Amino acid sequence: MMNQLRERMTRFMIGRYGIDRLGQFLLTVGMIILAVNLFVRNYALSLVVMVVLIVCYYRMFSRDINKRYGENQKFERMRFRVTEKFKKVKFRTLQMKDYHIYKCPSCGQKIRIPRGKGKISIHCPKCSTDFIKKS
Ligand SMILES: [Zn+2]
Repeated sequence: MMNQLRERMTRFMIGRYGIDRLGQFLLTVGMIILAVNLFVRNYALSLVVMVVLIVCYYRMFSRDINKRYGENQKFERMRFRVTEKFKKVKFRTLQMKDYHIYKCPSCGQKIRIPRGKGKISIHCPKCSTDFIKKS
């Protein structure tokens, strides 16, 4: 019985696009909004869930594989940009913990100084001004 169902499903999916990263993402987003909506019971949110799931299933059963593949590529590029930005923010936050960024009083050049070194003289690499700061 289970095998028959699976076989029928497999036959149905022949020539159709199926699930990809974008599809998984849409499903996850749809499920999260659905879960949130269990508590807030917002009409607009249920509409959003419906649209997301319809788009997801439409893509899964689509026979226009090239187009769906292109959409997924676009999604992957976007995801890459977002994760890169996130990594940068994380890196900067970590840096903030160990370093202090000072601005040179004469030229405005930003200089990174390790924290916790007491009063130190900082030499600006751009205009050669020396200034004293507490690190
Ligand atoms: Zn300077």
